[in-house]
Amino acid sequence: MQRQIIPQTMGQQFGRRSWAEPWKIKMVEPIRMTSREERERAIAEAGYNTFLLRSDDVYIDLLTDSGTSAMSDRQWAGLMLGDEAYAGSRNFYRLEATIQDYYGYRFVVPTHQGRGAEHLISQALIQPGDVIPGNMYFTTTRLHQELAGGRFVDVIIDEAHDPQSEHPFKGNVDLGKLQALIDEAGAERVRYVSLAGTVNMAGGQPVSMDNVRTLRELCDRYGIPIYLDATRMAENAYFIQEREPGYADKPIAAILKEFCSYTDGAWMSAKKDSLVNIGGWLAVNDEEVFDAARNLVVVYEGLHTYGGMAGRDMEALAIGIEESVQDDHIRSRIGQVRYLGELLVDWGIPIVCPVGGHAIFLDAKRFYPHIRQNEFPAQMLAAQLYLDSGIRAMERGVVSAGRDPETGDHRYPALELVRLTIPRRVYTQAHMDVTAEAVKAVYDARMETRGLDMVYEPKYLRFFQARFQPLVA
Ligand SMILES: *Cc1c(COP(=O)(O)O)cnc(C)c1O
Repeated sequence: MQRQIIPQTMGQQFGRRSWAEPWKIKMVEPIRMTSREERERAIAEAGYNTFLLRSDDVYIDLLTDSGTSAMSDRQWAGLMLGDEAYAGSRNFYRLEATIQDYYGYRFVVPTHQGRGAEHLISQALIQPGDVIPGNMYFTTTRLHQELAGGRFVDVIIDEAHDPQSEHPFKGNVDLGKLQALIDEAGAERVRYVSLAGTVNMAGGQPVSMDNVRTLRELCDRYGIPIYLDATRMAENAYFIQEREPGYADKPIAAILKEFCSYTDGAWMSAKKDSLVNIGGWLAVNDEEVFDAARNLVVVYEGLHTYGGMAGRDMEALAIGIEESVQDDHIRSRIGQVRYLGELLVDWGIPIVCPVGGHAIFLDAKRFYPHIRQNEFPAQMLAAQLYLDSGIRAMERGVVSAGRDPETGDHRYPALELVRLTIPRRVYTQAHMDVTAEAVKAVYDARMETRGLDMVYEPKYLRFFQARFQPLVA
């Protein structure tokens, strides 16, 4: 159905017309393939946690698309234009105007990265006992909401929890679930709706324009604001353009701005869509919320005209925002992700469908049906991929879900996934071929693979630092 933008493999069709990246390569960074013995040593030292590997030991790094993008020559040139004044840097004013222009919010607070902005908005808005509904949790987002005394409640549609559902907008909010929550908790307890574009934990699945529009109507009835995790909203806009009636001829930039117009503010990890290695922001329309956040930013991040970023970072970010909403850029970005997904689907490997915006998610439950969830099948799958070919992926399953703060038990998410995240403008189609072949090799050896035992567990965001050992038969 979306075949027209998928590059077809050689000889498949005569007269085919492929897309290609709207850039060429000016500088390269050598990478090194290790031996199997080196990788065995490295993963054991890393406690079978790919976050604890050294990047020098990694061949193709698909851990995350966060801060790993390649900047353009224009962005690198922008670094030279940094105004490193402590207060009132010219780069801040340019960034502020760019955010206002492309995202449409009134007030901007810069932060060092996304979680800095999550911290500010959570502290500014949430009172102990508040309920925060959202379309599936994200690790840092939910933690900041909980640390502020809030309780996150998932109100995403059921299809999002089913890796085989082909629903085109699996990121949508289930308005029935939200209504039930409002009825049960009381509208005054529902502090805001925490809405995310291309829902990461569901496999990079988009939210439709129709969904955010009707969500706005429902929230208006109760005076509940909507705050958006805009981290991958440019990618979300692409899916709207592709799938939603009436949007095929609208540019990505226009779709992005319309979507944001249904929300009251947003936080951003600029390390994703915006093509920079560090940075973030919070932007809101309500002046009181802005005042609170601008006051908090000086405590936790830095003065309100840099928020933890250098002047040069803000300049590169302003340029990155402009580049991130170009239709050609997004088409090739998502086209590359799909190329990898198509290869895996053709080989019968279980992945989350439809393929999302920034990553391929391997379905570890179907990959390793013989490994129980409390033996961390996705964690083991990521380790096996590294062992096979030096490819680094990330667990997004029971380890990432953490423990229930009330019962102390593991949270067992329906989705037990391994994320192969594609950095923007970094790897070639040949790297995608090598990756697909590595997944296939691990899949072919799946029945010989066993689970893991967790031997060290940190208190917060345990997936970053937990350590494991293979279970022996
Ligand atoms: C990465 C991310 C964040 C957190 O941003 P950081 O820049 O890593 O602090 C928040 N939400 C989503 C959806 C993300 O992907």
